[in-house]
Amino acid sequence: MQIDIISAFPGSFSGVFDESMLRRAQEKELLQLRIIDLRDFSTDKHRRVDDAPYGGGAGMVMSAEPFFLAVEALGVKKEDPGTRIILLSPGGAIFNQGKAQELSALNHMVILCGHYEGVDERVALHLAQERISIGDFVLTGGEIPAMVLVDAVTRLIPGLLSNSSLAEESFTNGMLEYPQYTRPYNFRGMLVPDVLLSGNHGEIKHWRYRQSLERTRLYRPELFEKRQEAGDRSQESE
Ligand code: SAM
Repeated sequence: MQIDIISAFPGSFSGVFDESMLRRAQEKELLQLRIIDLRDFSTDKHRRVDDAPYGGGAGMVMSAEPFFLAVEALGVKKEDPGTRIILLSPGGAIFNQGKAQELSALNHMVILCGHYEGVDERVALHLAQERISIGDFVLTGGEIPAMVLVDAVTRLIPGLLSNSSLAEESFTNGMLEYPQYTRPYNFRGMLVPDVLLSGNHGEIKHWRYRQSLERTRLYRPELFEKRQEAGDRSQESE
C-alpha cells in the first residue's frame, strides 16, 4: 500500500513512522509512506498556505489551491479504483475498526491534513472523497489524526500480522478482547486466573469468550446491545 500524507507541518511525523509496526511494514515493503510538504505547492513567495476567512471571523483558513496542486502532482485521480483521498476533519465520519479494515484493502491512500481554523470547503467538496474524524474533539491539526489512521490501517495490511492475532482483537467481532496476563504468576499477591495455567485449551477458549462478552457488556454496553440485536436478527432469519 502507498500512503501519501499532505501536511503543512511535515516535521510532526518524524519518529512515529520509524518505529515498531510501521517501520516493519516499510521494511517488508508492504507499505510505502511519503510525507508531502504542502508548502512546496504554495504559489506565495513566503510559502503561505492560509488566508483570512471570507465573511470574517477568528483565525486563518487553509487555501484550496496548494491541496489541489499537491494531489495533482501525485497524479492521483478520484476515479482510480483502489485509491482514496481523505480529508481529516472533526466534522467527518468517526473512524473505527470497520473503516480501518475497509481502508486496508486499498492500494493508495492520500491523507490531507488541515490546520488553523480548517480547510477551504472546496477541498472537501471537490478534491477529497471522504472526511474522517478520529473523535468528537478538536485537535490543532490533522497530523495526529493522520498518524492514528496510518497505524490502525497498516497493522491490518495482509501479511504484516498473523491472522490469529488480528481475529481475537478488540472490535473484530464486535467485542472487546479478553484480559491478557504474562509472567510472573504471582505479582505482589495478584494471581493469574488458574484456568490459564490449566493447559485445557477448550476451557481457556470458553473462559476468554465469557470474559470478552462480560467486558463488552460492562464497558461498552452499546457494542454489547448491537451484538445481541445482530444475534437476535440472525436467529429470526434461520
Ligand atoms: N474550526 C474547525 C472546527 O471547528 O471544526 C477545527 C479546525 S482544527 C483546529 C484544524 C484541523 O485539525 C482540521 O482541519 C483537521 O484537519 C484537524 N482535526 C482537528 N480535530 C480533528 C479530529 N477530531 N479528527 C480529524 N481531524 C481533526
